[in-house]
Amino acid sequence: MRQSKLFTKTQKEAPKDEVSINAQLLIRAGFIDKLMAGVYTLLPLGLRVMKKIENIIREEINAMGGQEIFMPSLQPKENWQKTGRWDAMDDLYKVKDSSDREFALGPTHEEVVVPLVKRFAQSYKDLPFATYQFQNKFRMELRSKSGILRGREFMMKDLYSFHLTEEDLNEYYEKSQKVYFKIFERAGLGGKTYLTFALGGTFSKYSHEFQTVTPAGEDTIYICKNCSQAINKEIKGDVAVCPNCKGEDFNEEKAIEVGNIFKLMNKYTKPFNLTVKNQEGKEQEVIMGCYGIGLGRLMGTVVEVHHDDKGIIWPESVAPFQIHLLSLKQDEKANEIYESLAAKGIEALYDDRDQAAGEKFAEADLIGIPYRVVVSEKSLKAGGVEVKKRNEEKGEIVEIKDLIGKLK
Ligand code: ATP
Ligand code: MG
Repeated sequence: MRQSKLFTKTQKEAPKDEVSINAQLLIRAGFIDKLMAGVYTLLPLGLRVMKKIENIIREEINAMGGQEIFMPSLQPKENWQKTGRWDAMDDLYKVKDSSDREFALGPTHEEVVVPLVKRFAQSYKDLPFATYQFQNKFRMELRSKSGILRGREFMMKDLYSFHLTEEDLNEYYEKSQKVYFKIFERAGLGGKTYLTFALGGTFSKYSHEFQTVTPAGEDTIYICKNCSQAINKEIKGDVAVCPNCKGEDFNEEKAIEVGNIFKLMNKYTKPFNLTVKNQEGKEQEVIMGCYGIGLGRLMGTVVEVHHDDKGIIWPESVAPFQIHLLSLKQDEKANEIYESLAAKGIEALYDDRDQAAGEKFAEADLIGIPYRVVVSEKSLKAGGVEVKKRNEEKGEIVEIKDLIGKLK
């Protein structure tokens, strides 16, 4: 894409009321725009990152047999009354129409997916299966100071699995943990993301969080020095030894909850009376699990983990473009290179604007595309273009004929 055509611009300053690094950098670099506290527009660059994240998740969830659907945000009050959450959930947005009919704006989708599955699942032969979606959630978050880490409207991947037996649910639950690690690894958070016991007492075996270590984290976790199992602070008080390996030494870290998995058991299938005929021909209650990842939160976490004082440093897997091509008054050569990159399907942002070199470099650092390719009089004299990785200090001259091979 030609940067001269991009309708958004970078900004020197972030809005004063944004205190989080992720929002400051993403707003300044032109990835997101703030509509109001906790509600953001994804701009062209931001949407490209979001789609990359979405595709990583989709590939991994499809590989484990998830079936993608898309459920509504506007949901009937009756379903929420049935589960008791109309009154019990304090972050639920409730809306009323002109005839005083009330609806929920979905903060999660058990109240939709369970009645949906009830219309199709009849026999044990229909189980197990899992269905998921990418959908905006609405939650009345009171503290929304963390930029896109905590939105009032935010994109979530929510997966729901349905099983006849606890054994089967357990097996799926274990598998989901491996898939989640793979997703976070692919998104650039490998080595920093820990499986964490989320709740105390008997619940600890029903729920886990995936926590990414960074100073921006709202949560505190304790990581076992021996086996890397982590425990959330809320329970740590009672736990003297690691529940996994009985280790006694922990590191205390700030962390962001990027994902959460639950064995819901019959919590939502019971109110809707979701049963199937078992092998004996008797009606048996279906049990379920749910598995969430916040995509905006994941994007914000990547920025919190991968940045320096100049800007964002995107991992290649989620970068909006792979190449930032900068023409320093060498448009003819740069145009040619841009065309040949496009022909090879290499995603490039092409800074073809008439601007000072210093400004172009500063903006490239702020936006954070993994490879910067500079076409200048100096580089051409030296025999080609200058290729520099965003996370390295020094670039190197590459002959134009070798550029594509080098980048691939
Ligand atoms: P938190 O404790 O941070 O409020 P939660 O326990 O309410 O999170 P879940 O209901 O389990 O979160 O949602 C699943 C995932 O959705 C979370 O792991 C997180 O990645 C994401 N998420 C939750 N709330 C938000 C939010 N307000 N903004 C962005 N992402 C969110
Ligand atoms: Mg919450």
